[in-house]
Amino acid sequence: MHDVLWPESSRWETFVATFAALAESAAYGLVKTPVIEDAAVFRRGIGDASDVVGKEMYEFTDRDGTMLALRPEGTASVVRAYLQHRPVLPWKAWYETPMFRHERPQAGRYRQHHQVGIEALGAVDPDLDVEVIWVADRFFRALGLHRYSLSINSMGDATCRPAYIELLTEYLRAHADELCEEHRGRIDANPMRVLDCKRPECRAVTDGVPHLVDHLCPDCATHLERVRAGLEALGIAAEVEHRLVRGFDYYTRTTFEFNSGAIESAQNGIGGGGRYDGLAEAMGGPPTPGVGFGIGIERVLLACDAEGCFASPPAPLDAYVVDLVDGTVARDLSVALRDAGLRVDRAFDRRSVKAQMKGADRSGALAALIIGPEESTAGTVTLRPLRGGGDQRAVPIGEVATALLALRGEP
Ligand SMILES: [Zn+2]
Ligand SMILES: [Zn+2]
Repeated sequence: MHDVLWPESSRWETFVATFAALAESAAYGLVKTPVIEDAAVFRRGIGDASDVVGKEMYEFTDRDGTMLALRPEGTASVVRAYLQHRPVLPWKAWYETPMFRHERPQAGRYRQHHQVGIEALGAVDPDLDVEVIWVADRFFRALGLHRYSLSINSMGDATCRPAYIELLTEYLRAHADELCEEHRGRIDANPMRVLDCKRPECRAVTDGVPHLVDHLCPDCATHLERVRAGLEALGIAAEVEHRLVRGFDYYTRTTFEFNSGAIESAQNGIGGGGRYDGLAEAMGGPPTPGVGFGIGIERVLLACDAEGCFASPPAPLDAYVVDLVDGTVARDLSVALRDAGLRVDRAFDRRSVKAQMKGADRSGALAALIIGPEESTAGTVTLRPLRGGGDQRAVPIGEVATALLALRGEP
């Protein structure tokens, strides 16, 4: 887990604000759900057999004996909220939240990490899948990222997936000796997981497996075609990756992942998601289709650093008040200026002029406002520009706000 301090935190603020503006431009509204849920929400929503629930979820017993869990991913919570409140469908929501997983430390992954994401419930239309992918792609562009790629695949559905799984199992059994140690004995438990394995032994085998996209039922095939056509129409390049399957049981049809080419690591996924038409039912609600994604904030910021984009310097202060009398003018003037829409800090503890000027310099403010005995008597301040030159001058107290706005370049 980690702390985020200023000025790095100001980059986070801009990150989330940029995402919010984009999601809201497509009519996704903010949803805030509790970080702690009944553990059953995730056990039913993600599946006991998944690594996320089985090995990584933070679970604990509450004082009254209830099993609770810290949220390990976003979708199950949002679907739980939908089932509880039943907003009108289609329902489109975005979130920004910490996630908790007790996993091995790796680049850009923390046991408390943070994600932004969207979920859209209540429509099976493949154009909605395209809209969801577009939001993610447009967001990465807005941050200035270029070196990333999009992989998509179809997970099929209840009509066509069972037959494919049989085919896949048969193939993997025939090559069982060649699989990695972890998967040699675990083909039957979840053969799709072998596709996800990054070890070279398993990769060599899965190079030759039958592709799910070649065994889709007509409805799933039509869905995938429409998604691909939509992405092409929007100028979003996507490659079909036959091994792209998701670890959660509820995913159906479209699944996708964005990978950064700038991060030097096998762990270069910067966001991913897909369709989960079976989830609401699995959680005890009526059948409700859905599609969404999650984007890891830490991982994306690593990609930004690697590409040298989205530095997002904090907004500078307009003024720093240096009061050499008794702090009264600093107290009152800084508030008056903030009320006028300016960003202002001041010195405390009646430090020496040298110490206060050092503080002004370090603050990055555009100007220092100096109040000494003479200014105090005359009802003025000395405005000393700290950035971009210009001479210092006396300004009547009542005109300081106007003078600072002029300095900032605004009338
Ligand atoms: Zn393996
Ligand atoms: Zn199908």
